[in-house]
Amino acid sequence: MPLALYDTWSRTLRAFTPIQADHVGLYCCGPTVYDHAHIGNLRTYVFEDVLRRVLALNGYAVRHVVNITDVGHLVSDADEGEDKMEKGSRRTGESAWEIAKRYTAAFMSDWHALNLLEPSVWCRATDHIAEQIDFIDELERNGYTYRTADGVYFDTSKQDDYGFLARLDVAGLQAGKRIAIGEKQRATDFALWKFSPPGTNRQMEWDSPWGRGFPGWHIECSAMSAKYLGPWFDIHCGGEDHIAVHHSNEIAQTQARHGTRLANFWMHGHFLTLDAGKMSKSGGDFVRLQTLIERGIDPLAYRYLCLSAHYRSTLRFSPEALDAAQSALDRLRRTYVQWPEGGMPNLNVVARFKAEVDQDLNLPRALAVLWEVVRSDLPPAVRRATVDHFDAVLGLRLTEWKESTVAIPADIALLGNAREKARALKQWSEADRLRGVLNAAGWHVEDSVSGQVLRPLDTAK
Ligand code: AMP
Ligand code: ZN
Repeated sequence: MPLALYDTWSRTLRAFTPIQADHVGLYCCGPTVYDHAHIGNLRTYVFEDVLRRVLALNGYAVRHVVNITDVGHLVSDADEGEDKMEKGSRRTGESAWEIAKRYTAAFMSDWHALNLLEPSVWCRATDHIAEQIDFIDELERNGYTYRTADGVYFDTSKQDDYGFLARLDVAGLQAGKRIAIGEKQRATDFALWKFSPPGTNRQMEWDSPWGRGFPGWHIECSAMSAKYLGPWFDIHCGGEDHIAVHHSNEIAQTQARHGTRLANFWMHGHFLTLDAGKMSKSGGDFVRLQTLIERGIDPLAYRYLCLSAHYRSTLRFSPEALDAAQSALDRLRRTYVQWPEGGMPNLNVVARFKAEVDQDLNLPRALAVLWEVVRSDLPPAVRRATVDHFDAVLGLRLTEWKESTVAIPADIALLGNAREKARALKQWSEADRLRGVLNAAGWHVEDSVSGQVLRPLDTAK
């Protein structure tokens, strides 16, 4: 059976064939680095990583591009308010450039902790200002833009099918006009370039044919995806919140410049939610991967939790669900290490696993096949070789696991938390004292960019 993927554009499951034989172009919208990523954001990257691994399982070479939004993402979708980077700068007292650097580094550390494969290209918006200006320039020449006192806008009335991806009711939005639209002519129009406010100096601003300012958020993805993958490539991904605005606008821009809808498949991961509702950066109330690590949870247990829900269903986060994922992973690891190497995989089971992941990445069912193998009476060496095959998709690093890296005991985690708090309050001598207590208890403390990491002294490097 061929690989079938759900395409948001057509709202159907479609058989996947690449535009160029054996080669797949994959673009994934990356983080806005004005704050830490939360575990909801990371769920989307886990889904994209699994997609990439399933494409590889099908024999495709994947060119995977991920952007880093370090400028131009405004606080409101109505193109009003501050740039999130400048706002973050006001919050922390660091420069916008320092903020971008710090949160990018923290993001990379989460990325690696979750065993996400390194993209072929990481691209930063601030490194591609010239490409974005060229793009806007071409849109202007093609007659898709207008200027206001505060910027250059995309005129969505020029496209009859604007918003098709989201099945947007454009007329209804315009008639309702419940959102503030400032100087825009229509609710759906969006900023391509914003002018620096007169009399103020922004930390991040550039000269352009229209005046000094900064790019709108959507243009970076149209410009950078075209640069690295061409204007018509295979798959574009992101979280479900991007369908209505960000991806609709990326498509509008690319259609206006290149005449394509960017990608042959549009795929969207559904949200991780809390009891209180969706987890969002702007809400401020969110859980970081590092917080879980400090509570003694292995980041790969969070990865396991993500695998246990289909990417197109909402995953409700709870400490109990996470503990269950940690227990399942521990059980899997402890069983796996007892199996000898040197066997051959059971091809029948390997094919069943592949059939599940090929059916729009049905990881919950693929995990069920895994547990069947664990509990089966297949020879242990065969079970190991079969599960190794699965782990190329699951990414749980089973072969690398050692017992001593399993879990941080609760009392050690509490000491670690106390030390983190002391550091946050700049109580350095208390933080040093707690480091001494942790060392005496056999734990090494390392302060990484994304926070503190605890390791047993015998495994600490
Ligand atoms: P951001 O850094 O806010 O631009 O978001 C990075 C990625 O995370 C995007 O693909 C978003 O669609 C996605 N995302 C945002 N919130 C959530 C959530 N609660 N659950 C899953 N994905 C999310
Ligand atoms: Zn994007």
